[in-house]
Amino acid sequence: MSNLPKEPEFEQALHEVETTLAPFLKKYPEYKKALEIVQIPERIIQFRVVWEDDNHQAQVNRGFRVQFNSALGPYKGGLRLHPTVNLSVLKFLGFEQVFKNALTGIPIGGGKGGSDFDPKGKSDAEVRRFVKSFATELSRHIGADTDVPAGDIGFSTREGGFLFGQYKALKNEWVGILTGKALDWGGSHVRPEATGYGTVYYVEHMLAHAGHADGFKGKRVIISGSGQVAQFAALKVIELGGTVLTFSDSKGSLVATGEAGFTKEEIEEIYKIKFARKELSTLGDKGGKYKFHGDSARPWTLIDKYDVALPCATQNEMNAQEADFAIKAGCVAVAEGSNMGCDPGAIDAFEKSRVEKGKKGTWYGPGKAANSGGVAVSGLEMQQNKGLTQWTPEVVDAKLKDIMKSAFQQCYDAGAEFPLSGSKEEIPSLLVGANIAGFRRVANAMKDHGDWF
Ligand code: NDP
Repeated sequence: MSNLPKEPEFEQALHEVETTLAPFLKKYPEYKKALEIVQIPERIIQFRVVWEDDNHQAQVNRGFRVQFNSALGPYKGGLRLHPTVNLSVLKFLGFEQVFKNALTGIPIGGGKGGSDFDPKGKSDAEVRRFVKSFATELSRHIGADTDVPAGDIGFSTREGGFLFGQYKALKNEWVGILTGKALDWGGSHVRPEATGYGTVYYVEHMLAHAGHADGFKGKRVIISGSGQVAQFAALKVIELGGTVLTFSDSKGSLVATGEAGFTKEEIEEIYKIKFARKELSTLGDKGGKYKFHGDSARPWTLIDKYDVALPCATQNEMNAQEADFAIKAGCVAVAEGSNMGCDPGAIDAFEKSRVEKGKKGTWYGPGKAANSGGVAVSGLEMQQNKGLTQWTPEVVDAKLKDIMKSAFQQCYDAGAEFPLSGSKEEIPSLLVGANIAGFRRVANAMKDHGDWF
């Protein structure tokens, strides 16, 4: 019996990695020692954040930074501001981040942080005072060559600006200690778009390998969430000829009632709604074109036939029943824009469908690889900052496409090399492939550094 506190989200992420590494560890048992070591963060920082609300009252929240692994480069990973944030959530996100970052091929380690502060319902002044207080402590632990945070749920360029400004004031240095910065002060083109675009680029490779030569053209696509990742995934799907039939938020799902999907203009409206921290339902039904399903309804079972599903909101947002529904609805590819979007039951259902039906089944693309485009462009932002330069959107987008192609290929090749069932399947497990390819790279670097032997 362990005397450690329960960490359900972290244990779920760890269990997934442990089980999918099984065929690799069978062939190379010496790596079991690396797995034992890599699952413990190098360092965890916890601190209190006192801030003043608009009524001049003192408020307090918990702040965290999990510096998980620096074998491949400085710790890198976002900051989440959400009332559900705790150490289990941040350890799961940091652990995923370590292997995700390895798949980008960019020299960055893995970390994650944030606070249980809820930006919803707070004034801009309250958010600014909170972030400046949070940054005052965090600034002791980050640095351009040490640990480079970014955004995540509830933390966008606006919050990043306050953090960057506070760091600069305290340290008297203008350096790239954060990614996802605004374009005028060191940001990279295509960073806001990168996670959503990258997820869609990843799915393009899945579709091509599964025999869908037309890619997204004519595909019916279900998306959850309505934040940064969801919005840009949707815009790219539309650009490639697909139809986006749903968005959602924590209150429910907005679903197309007919064949017409969301337009670019409507997505622009959703951006404004979410920037103002309002609810998705305020978009309205557009004359009956959409129906809002409340009570936190998720979109997966609200449309009978669809081709692609992209969870882009939060962890564990699709379960086994919803996965079964997606499989019956004819869904050929599911890829996580969110981290750990599918729960273990959903993943099992998709993996079973892949093994049993091959290219006719539902192929699962894990977030670790599918949503790695965001951190990849963050890595490119670090490179631009170091070189005191800014690349054009075309240059960054071309690099993003190359990175997503390579991430897909690494998953495909490692999945094919280590089939879980013991026999070569028609299409390999991208989940197994992502975990093995990411783990192998990190473990090898750790061995070179003498972290295991
Ligand atoms: P945003 O804060 O911009 O949007 C989050 C969206 O998810 C909102 O629509 C929000 O609804 C919804 N949501 C959040 N929590 C819940 C919940 N518990 N139940 C239902 N809906 C919820 O975040 P991002 O778009 O940046 O991130 C979305 C996901 O993508 C996260 O899992 C994140 O870790 C992952 N990711 C993000 C990257 C990035 O570059 N931004 C990079 C890689 C992964 P509401 O507005 O009602 O809160």
